Amino acid sequence: MTSHILSTNLGFPRIGSHRELKKALENYWSGASTAQELLNTAAALRARHWFVQQKAGIDHVPSNDFSFYDQVLDTIAMLGAVPERFGHKGGAVPLDVYFGMARGTPGAPAMEMTKWFDTNYHYIVPELTADTPFALSGSKALDEFNEAKFLGLHTRPVLIGPVTFLKIAKMRDGTDRWALLPRLLPVYLKLLAALAQAGAGWVQIDEPCLVGDLDDAAQAALRSAYAVLSQAPVKILLATYFGAVDDNLDTLAGLQVAGVHVDLVRAPEQLDAVCRAIPGGRTLSLGVVNGRNIWKTALTDAERLIERARELRGGALMVGPSCSLLHVPVDLDTEIAMDTELKSWLAFATQKLDEVAALTKAANGMRDSRYFNANAQALGSRATSARIHDPVVKARLEAVTPDMAERAAPFKARIALQQSLLKLPLLPTTSIGSLPQTQEIRELRAAFKKGAVDQASYDRQIEEKTAEAMRWQDEIGIDVPVHGEYERNDMVEYFGEQLRGFAFTERAWVQSYGSRCVKPPLIFGDVSRPKPMTLYWTGIAQRYTKKPVKGMLTGPVTILQWSFVRDDQPRSETCRQIALAIRDEVLDLEKAGVAIIQIDEAALREGLPIRKAQWRHYLDWAVEAFRLTAGGVAPATQIHTHMCYSEFNDIIAAVAAMDADVISIETSRSAMELLDAFVGFAYPNDIGPGVYDIHSPRVPSQAEMEDLLEKALKVLSPQQLWVNPDCGLKTRGWAEVKPALIAMVAAAKAVRGRLAAQQAERSIPA
Ligand code: GLN
Ligand code: ZN
Repeated sequence: MTSHILSTNLGFPRIGSHRELKKALENYWSGASTAQELLNTAAALRARHWFVQQKAGIDHVPSNDFSFYDQVLDTIAMLGAVPERFGHKGGAVPLDVYFGMARGTPGAPAMEMTKWFDTNYHYIVPELTADTPFALSGSKALDEFNEAKFLGLHTRPVLIGPVTFLKIAKMRDGTDRWALLPRLLPVYLKLLAALAQAGAGWVQIDEPCLVGDLDDAAQAALRSAYAVLSQAPVKILLATYFGAVDDNLDTLAGLQVAGVHVDLVRAPEQLDAVCRAIPGGRTLSLGVVNGRNIWKTALTDAERLIERARELRGGALMVGPSCSLLHVPVDLDTEIAMDTELKSWLAFATQKLDEVAALTKAANGMRDSRYFNANAQALGSRATSARIHDPVVKARLEAVTPDMAERAAPFKARIALQQSLLKLPLLPTTSIGSLPQTQEIRELRAAFKKGAVDQASYDRQIEEKTAEAMRWQDEIGIDVPVHGEYERNDMVEYFGEQLRGFAFTERAWVQSYGSRCVKPPLIFGDVSRPKPMTLYWTGIAQRYTKKPVKGMLTGPVTILQWSFVRDDQPRSETCRQIALAIRDEVLDLEKAGVAIIQIDEAALREGLPIRKAQWRHYLDWAVEAFRLTAGGVAPATQIHTHMCYSEFNDIIAAVAAMDADVISIETSRSAMELLDAFVGFAYPNDIGPGVYDIHSPRVPSQAEMEDLLEKALKVLSPQQLWVNPDCGLKTRGWAEVKPALIAMVAAAKAVRGRLAAQQAERSIPA
């Protein structure tokens, strides 16, 4: 007889289907509500989500997957690892200290935030030193377990594992992170004992670091951590997700835990190896429903994986999502306006629970054939729908030739032509695209979307703002002005709304960080561009200045990265389709006389795979997609690109291979650390390392920016250096932007003056 298979979940989105948590948090922060009101909303959300999971038929429902801000921050609080500047004297971490770490306090800047593996979710980076004290300083995991118990649910508490926690931490003093492990483990043990005491059977410990590259020290840390934690009186389910365990499989198999969870959506091919490696007595949890995307699961494929696991192992199995459902929206049923065909292809978190339950039941001999038939039908309609498959797009993709990704002339020849046309000074000044999106502009757009303002009056008001911005940039002497992007709400949404193959939702919010949520577009079908997208506003802007207005586009990799992408073809292929659509726009801009076109690839870096071995492949297709957007223009047309984040040193060759004539890159926060990359690598084209940190309300001084430029000139030539801020200015106010850009232009002029003087000196014959 085969044993009974259990259904499981690894985590549920906590924000609420109507972003109730967001609202409760922001009300509390602004003083509009009390802490008690916030706690009540949180408890109501937890209860609701537990019952949703119970009702769906999930056997192992998680607890402690809720968070007021972030689960890594929860772990920091649990361990009492509060950085000194927050003045915490030990003991339970109060709510306001917790929020202080996330958001900063008058006396202490916020802790750093960065992306959780390859997701768009941001976590708070633990800041540790050799003598960070660790002590059990929060009872959240225990409280939530008890809270659920009180409601009649026996849950499985979720913790972030000690090895992943240390691996993603920042060691402030540069000491060895693994030296902290022996002091961390007693805290975990104490908590596990308390959970056991309260009646917890299983505890889920997440160690996603197991799908990444781990050196010997990290592997050793895993071994010593679980040798200790397996002494706890609970059953540990060690969860891996976001990819294949691969070369860490031996280490994983050697850990004395009761169960292991693996991701079979990203890495179905690891099933056989995992089944053979993990000792028979352990429970194996199969992640077969995608926790990272919004498409219905191909249930029969998932069934086959479960069957295969059963064939290879006699022992206990569980069926669940690939990872926590945190990364998908809450409930498809809240999409009222979405058409039924598109809707029939989708599953959000709530629907994914049904899939998990149906698969588990089927594996236990109770296959709901109606449910499986409906699934097959939906998948069939998706596979053949004319809305998805556009023969024209497919034919066009087929016809792409390598030369389409090549500029017609090499950079040296291009830049000479561009220079003779544009006649820009040395160290030309520009900005990244957006100018402050004031309250007024946001209200105007909201009113327009609601239908309260008509097209003509919307256009007129946006034009007024644009004209004002153009005149002001002229006045302060910006060499390459931008139109300000006032007509755009978001750099991806603006294009998605105008491209075929994209759909938008009403409420498909996912948490980005804290109370901040994003609503990524869905790329469901072949992508094409019915008509020009940016010509109108670029043309309007050009009317108000004699300087060359820079056309502004979002690149294919960034559009891909910030959307839910179709899963029925490789991402690289979808990316190429977008690239061709953007290429059309580039060529239309050129035809309309736009001499400088910027194609933003803000997200190129964050698209890097978790495993270094896969970087090459990703960079190859990502860079090619960018080159395809730009490859069609004449040598005289100047192509710019822009990237956020300063860690480029390890991919600088790929950035150079994009062959943009000019690139702007974020650097000012790291005081031009980026420039280290150019010591060993001669970046061939023009480049503008940001001199103004737009993430802070602080106005940088002229002297500061001059200083950064002088620093840049140590590794870059004056002929290749541009002067610009770090990123778009839309989140800033004019009160800061005006003095900052004026000072930036002045800094450029001052350095230009010094360069000219040096030049003159050199040309005086001795
Ligand atoms: N052009 C965009 C802007 O200025 C770029 C934003 C970004 O890099 N995130 O807003
Ligand atoms: Zn940017």
